[in-house]
Amino acid sequence: MQDPQPTASHFVNGAYLEDTAGTLIDVVYPATGAVIAQVHAATPAVIDAALEAAAAGQKVWAAMTGTERGRILRRAADMMRDRNRALSELETLDTGKPMQETLVVDATSGADALEYFGGLAGSLTGEHIPLAGGDFVYTRRVPLGVCVGIGAWNYPTQIACWKGAPALACGNAMVFKPSETTPLCALKVAEILHEAGLPAGVYNVIQGMGEVGGALVTDPRVAKVSLTGSVPTGRKVYAAAAEGMKHVTMELGGKSPMLIFDDADLENAVSGAILGNFYSSGQVCSNGTRVFVQKGIKEAFLARLSERLADAKIGDPMDEDVSFGPMVSERQMRIVEGYIDAGLNEGARLVTGGKQLEQEGFYLPPTVFADVTDDMTIAREEIFGPVMAVLDFEDEAEAIARANDTPFGLAAGVFTQDLTRGHRVIAALEAGTGYINTYNLAPVEAPFGGTKASGVGRENSKLAIDHYSEMRSVYVAMNDVEAPY
Ligand code: NDP
Repeated sequence: MQDPQPTASHFVNGAYLEDTAGTLIDVVYPATGAVIAQVHAATPAVIDAALEAAAAGQKVWAAMTGTERGRILRRAADMMRDRNRALSELETLDTGKPMQETLVVDATSGADALEYFGGLAGSLTGEHIPLAGGDFVYTRRVPLGVCVGIGAWNYPTQIACWKGAPALACGNAMVFKPSETTPLCALKVAEILHEAGLPAGVYNVIQGMGEVGGALVTDPRVAKVSLTGSVPTGRKVYAAAAEGMKHVTMELGGKSPMLIFDDADLENAVSGAILGNFYSSGQVCSNGTRVFVQKGIKEAFLARLSERLADAKIGDPMDEDVSFGPMVSERQMRIVEGYIDAGLNEGARLVTGGKQLEQEGFYLPPTVFADVTDDMTIAREEIFGPVMAVLDFEDEAEAIARANDTPFGLAAGVFTQDLTRGHRVIAALEAGTGYINTYNLAPVEAPFGGTKASGVGRENSKLAIDHYSEMRSVYVAMNDVEAPY
């Protein structure tokens, strides 16, 4: 297996860059707790170098045609696919997610984004607007300039690409700061993009904690900030960006509802609940962690869920038979244990799981609480771990009202075989991303993002283009200018 220690901590102006004066950050392998690499946080000099390189690189990049830019992004996509195994191993080392997942989700979805936005790059144009007397307006779609991407730790490769690909397709440059918990993967994305022909400075990666992100967000050279993180961080970053009148995309947390009606296909509903709660050890922003189950199907649902969970293969994430790995960090595991304690103390019924496994690494098994009520902490707050809360309901109107009674609005799902109910219910649920009879799929072709406190803006799909470019209009007169005097 490859050595996870990167060549240097940062990737700036087309090359690796080190500055050992920055705070040392240990990279811990979640399956063992061992330190497997170290990086340094960016010093003010590194932050400045990255922003300078991005400002200069952006001018070179924006001067190329969209077709040329797209070709480089698509070449990078092919390279990511060719290197999928090595990238997946690194993702597993960084996050602890099992290879069974990383081989099919992380570098591959990153490559999808590079390919999709690379494909769009040549077609990003303005329009011609005819007016009276032969006058007309034309619009030009122009890049914003230097964009900052700040990532969470759960999908380090994917987030680096989901932000980078549309930004670059539009002719922007990016400075990306990964989470300090998972600093390794974004460096590989930068390396590949430059190997594919990206001009120096167009995609930079610098490490650090919140204060590095804060320094980037407030820098006047930055035109746009895209954050994937928690709601509290989102509030801070949004406010700081507003101060500088910067564009923002906020991909934040959630407490998403999944409504399972009596007539649902039980097996599909159980599969959806498993995918929407335990994939990546539950560390997924859009997870449907409030599972509302109609009373008639509740006991059958819980029985089948317990049977299926007994088949989860928990263990070494490098073993491709393993389907459930450790949590990303001891800190995150302790936070989740606190929520499990709250569930027990507030009277929820523990159906399965709940205790750290007695082995090295940060392993919390899939945990299910039943008889959860709306006021319990585990039904209100984002846990970001493998904890499912099952709540029961009588009828549709009640379930919709309770599902919407949350400040969050990232995702929502409904399981039913009644076609009209499926559409009616999903339309009534306050969520940016909805699912009928499935859960947690995020193809690059579809918009992804939240409403309410879960965020602003959309990633993926053609809509992302509007978040990384702006339209400028030009009025062209074909007649003499009429002035009153
Ligand atoms: P955090 O909000 O703690 O951190 C997100 C990123 O912001 C990190 O890189 C962090 O740096 C950085 N940061 C922290 N404070 C500041 C600041 N003041 N200014 C600028 N940057 C700052 O989130 P987590 O990393 O713990 O990720 C989990 C959260 O992310 C969950 O709430 C989850 O729902 C959400 N998420 C949302 C997704 C979506 O698409 N909607 C997808 C994935 C996750 P550092 O941590 O290094 O200090």
